[in-house]
Amino acid sequence: MRGVAYSPPEATEIPLCPVCGVSSTGLEVGTRGRFDMSVRNIACDHCALVYQSPRPTREAMAAYYASGYREQYGDVGYPLAGGGYARPGDPHFDTAMDAWHRVQGENARALAETKAGDLVLEIGCRHGRTLSLMREALGVDAYGVEPGVEEAEKAREAGIACFVGTIEDYDPAELRFDQIQSFHVLEHLHDPLAALLRMRGWLKPGGRLVIEVPNVYQPYGLLEENFFQNAHLTNFSESTLRVLLLRAGYSVLRTLDRGSLFAVATPDAHVSNVPVPFSPKLLPDANESAIWVADRLKTYEILERLRVLLLATGPTMELLNELAGTLKRPGFVPHTVSTVTQMADYFIGHEAPRAAMFVAVAASLGPYPADVCASFQGLALQLQSTAA
Ligand SMILES: [Zn+2]
Repeated sequence: MRGVAYSPPEATEIPLCPVCGVSSTGLEVGTRGRFDMSVRNIACDHCALVYQSPRPTREAMAAYYASGYREQYGDVGYPLAGGGYARPGDPHFDTAMDAWHRVQGENARALAETKAGDLVLEIGCRHGRTLSLMREALGVDAYGVEPGVEEAEKAREAGIACFVGTIEDYDPAELRFDQIQSFHVLEHLHDPLAALLRMRGWLKPGGRLVIEVPNVYQPYGLLEENFFQNAHLTNFSESTLRVLLLRAGYSVLRTLDRGSLFAVATPDAHVSNVPVPFSPKLLPDANESAIWVADRLKTYEILERLRVLLLATGPTMELLNELAGTLKRPGFVPHTVSTVTQMADYFIGHEAPRAAMFVAVAASLGPYPADVCASFQGLALQLQSTAA
């Protein structure tokens, strides 16, 4: 990135919590983000949303998206079937891109039960590939909103009725949609509640909203070196996304956790244009407090670092003891399960069954649901009999 003239926007604005709107204070859960940028995230005292505070202003982010953002984060690559990524100009780029957008469209169809003839609007549709593929496969009428001028032009060339601008500028006049979809956009918005309220007004009665966002309970990579990013103003969980949708006047039909988080919602019949006031009663699980989240993010971070170290250096007694200590802390269940399983497999593959057993036993004693502890116990017993 040396020699590239970009300047990340400064974080100068202390917002009220974007989900509950109650408070501007919380528990600090991170101070850095990708590319070693200063990105401070807190967990809200009232709804446990993890969000940036302070954060760059709307104007500063708009200028950044128009200039340095793409340069800094790099061209969007698409995963290849055989592993690795295809970047623009690579021979298999188009195939990889289509495969990825076909899955995205198929996810949306399956979640929202999209039908032929439906009017589908995508917020942040980029070059319109997901919409084009949905139109080919299903025969939907495709509309888009995209602030990137070049991307929007590509969408128009593909026959999408694409508005160039932001969701705040868009006005569909009398048009109402059967489905509005938005993938990995909500976490970039300064006021996601206002955006969802606007979208609700554009849906037909019984219309469906499909949202996909990263899940802060299933981060990827190290939090401060990868997952937290300056452009992600909010880091949703299933709980906080649900509260936001309820406040914007939707009924949540279902949520789905596939690493990233999906929600399908429909406008409430009693439509009003003001947000539903926040109340702790809206929270699906009162246990998920700021401390609850902060504790688990901390465990996640330690486990990720230990996993990398253990796989690199092998099971030293010091590292194994640190791991056993960490597994006594509360963590995100899917992450702990996958980490412990991966470590155990690795040590078995490297003829260190005692280290594998040690990890499984330590995990079985952790503060996890009974069925999870039992499965770790089962793994330990199995390893014991193999080692014997
Ligand atoms: Zn909050």
